[in-house]
Amino acid sequence: PFEVLVVGGGPGGAAASIYAARKGIRTGLVAERFGGQVLDTMAIENFISIPYTEGPKLGAELEAHVKNYDVELYKGLAATKLVPATEPGGLATVELGPDARLSAKSVIVATGARWRHMGVPGEQEYKNKGVTFCPHCDGPLFKGKRVAVIGGGNSGIEAAIDLAGVVGHVTVVEFLDVLRADEVLVRKLKSLPNVDIVMSARTTEVLGDGDQVTGLDYEDRVTGELKHLDLEGIFVQIGLLPNTEWLQGTLELNPRGEIVVDERGATSADGIFAAGDCTTEPFKQIVVAMGTGSTAALSAFDHLIRTSAP
Ligand code: FAD
Repeated sequence: PFEVLVVGGGPGGAAASIYAARKGIRTGLVAERFGGQVLDTMAIENFISIPYTEGPKLGAELEAHVKNYDVELYKGLAATKLVPATEPGGLATVELGPDARLSAKSVIVATGARWRHMGVPGEQEYKNKGVTFCPHCDGPLFKGKRVAVIGGGNSGIEAAIDLAGVVGHVTVVEFLDVLRADEVLVRKLKSLPNVDIVMSARTTEVLGDGDQVTGLDYEDRVTGELKHLDLEGIFVQIGLLPNTEWLQGTLELNPRGEIVVDERGATSADGIFAAGDCTTEPFKQIVVAMGTGSTAALSAFDHLIRTSAP
């Protein structure tokens, strides 16, 4: 059995496995797709000390760094069930489908998240060509340009306020006839000169010239009329779904499905820690996932020295 088994091979899992291996303890890492969400992005400009890199390059470097250490890697395998230890110092089991399982004295879950998509024509085709999901990451790419933010919840309105300071013009497109974001955010948004809000609007299609987004079509849900916006960027902010379905009933999750963790990365189960986008950590970013991944590994080590027989 492993002393630390990391589930997830994004920035959070990579950092956790390196921190664990550097303690000289037996460390394993299982990842369905090593690299995680960074593989789906191009420009990364907020990975501190590296002014510019690209997702696939960072993903490959994460793997090379992990391989510098004695970490047993299982790629292309998905965890399907977690069974925590039944007694202090016991073994937890991670099932990988019906026939395979790994056991460990401590487990670090870093299975990340995925953005909810609109599911309209053009969205997939223009991903990273104007359609984007991360305002902190991609806002500056649209300096002076026109963008839409899809979604009027807190993340959508925060994104719109944030973007209004960077881009030329922001249109918020909300499906419902109310904005669900906090009143203070809505007031702030409405005070900005370069923001429009369209309510009761169902986005129907992302349009482009083959290379880049040029606009978006939506249906006015009150009149049924089809309308068009000319713009260069579309920020989709309709939810981030944590990859925690396999943990339902095992670990405490919040109503959004995020693993509830404390400031040490400890979950509701003894010996099980979690890090990165799959947790209640509010900010979903590469450096944050790495920071919480290293915290979880140091906490797991602390747990091991307290529970292992002398
Ligand atoms: P992830 O990166 O989501 O990795 C999760 C890992 O777990 C993957 O290896 C996955 O295959 C694996 N996994 C999932 N389920 C299972 C399972 N059941 N069993 C085994 N393995 C499993 N952040 C920035 O800081 N700067 C940026 O510029 C930036 N741009 C972004 C652009 C895009 C398009 C996207 C989608 C995100 C961007 N982000 C950016 C956010 C950043 O990528 C995430 O915050 C970060 O990757 C989270 O790391 P993580 O390790 O928690 O999870």
